[in-house]
Amino acid sequence: MTKLFNDPKTFMEDALVGFLDANARYAVGVPGGVVRASETPQGKVAVVVGGGSGHYPAFCGVVGPGFADGAVVGNIFTSPSTDDAYHVGKAAAQGGGLLFSTGNYAGDVMNFNLAQERLEAEGIRTRNVYVTDDVASASVQEKHKRRGIAGDFVVFKVAGAAAEAGLDLDEVERLAIKANEATRTMGVGLEGCTMPGADDKLFHVPAGKMGVGLGIHGEPGIAEEDLPPASELATLLLDRVLAEEPADSIKRVGAILNGLGATKYEELFVVWKTVSGLLKEKGYTVVDPEVGELVTSLDMAGVSLTLVYLDDELETYWTAPADTPAYKKGAAVAVGGPRRAALSEEDLKVEIAPGSAASARAGMLAVTALEAMAQAIRDAEDDLARMDAIAGDGDHGRGMVKGVTFAVEAAKSASDQGAGAAGVLAAAGDAWASKAGGTSGVLWGAALRSLGARLGDEAEQISATDVAAAVQAGADRIQELGKAQLGDKTMLDALLPFADALRQGVEGGKSLTEAWRAASQVATTKAGETAGLRPKVGRARPLAERSLGTPDPGATSLAMCTRVVVDVLAAAGKE
Ligand code: ADP
Ligand code: MG
Repeated sequence: MTKLFNDPKTFMEDALVGFLDANARYAVGVPGGVVRASETPQGKVAVVVGGGSGHYPAFCGVVGPGFADGAVVGNIFTSPSTDDAYHVGKAAAQGGGLLFSTGNYAGDVMNFNLAQERLEAEGIRTRNVYVTDDVASASVQEKHKRRGIAGDFVVFKVAGAAAEAGLDLDEVERLAIKANEATRTMGVGLEGCTMPGADDKLFHVPAGKMGVGLGIHGEPGIAEEDLPPASELATLLLDRVLAEEPADSIKRVGAILNGLGATKYEELFVVWKTVSGLLKEKGYTVVDPEVGELVTSLDMAGVSLTLVYLDDELETYWTAPADTPAYKKGAAVAVGGPRRAALSEEDLKVEIAPGSAASARAGMLAVTALEAMAQAIRDAEDDLARMDAIAGDGDHGRGMVKGVTFAVEAAKSASDQGAGAAGVLAAAGDAWASKAGGTSGVLWGAALRSLGARLGDEAEQISATDVAAAVQAGADRIQELGKAQLGDKTMLDALLPFADALRQGVEGGKSLTEAWRAASQVATTKAGETAGLRPKVGRARPLAERSLGTPDPGATSLAMCTRVVVDVLAAAGKE
């Protein structure tokens, strides 16, 4: 159990304050995460890593000379927001460009890609490399869909060392990609983890069993098998990792035997004894193995084995010195003095532009619609959480509540300052994306922003046709960012039919209210029908079979939101 906390809601923030105080020599806080406490040379590539919290020492524990320049810190098991990544990237960049690297999770990918877009637009060259080391999470044919687990550490280490050596952005990116391609991990879960404040673990592994193919966000293993003696477990892990040995392997490997948070170091050494013996027997040379906790999952019990198939170049950076809060090797030293002032919250305020009368009225109506959505989502929080816990990570209820609640607040404030539809919905979307975390948060946030942009701030009149086109623009943005198709079991399975039906209704001469009502019925039916689908994207994909029979949580909440807006439109007399 996670037992020590003040308020579960501020667990991560409290931990970060303590971390920064204890590691003031290495890191300072900036909005969204941390950057090195020492100045780095102008022109050095900045390597910024990140992801949700709950994985310490990943990710802020590896900020320092020889390793990362900064870490973006999300909530527990939740992707940081676009704003977070953007701010940390901006604070870390020193004129040599920026490499973002995170595990390959939809939420992280979208947020870091959006942050990349913004940084590039400001002239900061940015590259993103997503780690895909988990062999259990997809087949070789679908390698690009694999998750990043303990192999994150290898890729971050190689990229960090290459940047420290003064290589340019193209080279650092090339090496990060090469390290990722040479890295494989296989893990097993022995017991689930507990979110702070929760009274039960996110999942249980029955006595005498293990979950093969662990995730690091409280996802249960992909298959349940009998727990064998440590030596047989070591063999199983190694066989699985060696099964995908690259053709050009020179039989030199870096290795990580990683504990997930509640596995004793002694237990890890027992497993390592067999792994190392077998590797020697098979003719491998193991270079600088790491046995310990490098990427954890709160208090989860489990173990994973990572191998990185080395060549001279990868070996150089795998073995290079580093000096960070949680990982020290050889003699790495900070070269610069204390860091000049990093970004503060004050630097980040945005100005609100006033909208036309019609647009400001539409903005007010958007506030009312968001309030109605917030009420409905709060009432459904537990149901949505349960639905998401079947094959996902159980955070959909909380994420939606946080997102919509902060969106209402931001929308109100913008509307009170006279903003039009675009301003109100941009404020709402940005607040939603930055507070909700998770895949659905970033997609909802971006969709509201696009929907608002289509309505604009200056319209003299907003017609039902404009609203239908705006909803379509929101749906298009989700598709562009999330790259999901109809039938992939996502919120799009409710949203695309909704947008179609709305447009058809309006074109057929229905009032906005009536067209919306009919479309929301379509969305509701389509959301229910997702129960028969297998997820092809997102966190639920590795557990696709388990998800059969349960509707998609994101489609369900979306349909719910469309339903409550009917009454808002009717009350406003939207003909
Ligand atoms: P996370 O999956 O990051 O934990 P949530 O639990 O809040 O985020 O949201 C999960 C929902 O997000 C899914 O039920 C699905 O509807 C939606 N989703 C996931 N990936 C995508 C995607 N690529 N495109 C559209 N929607 C997606
Ligand atoms: Mg989820």
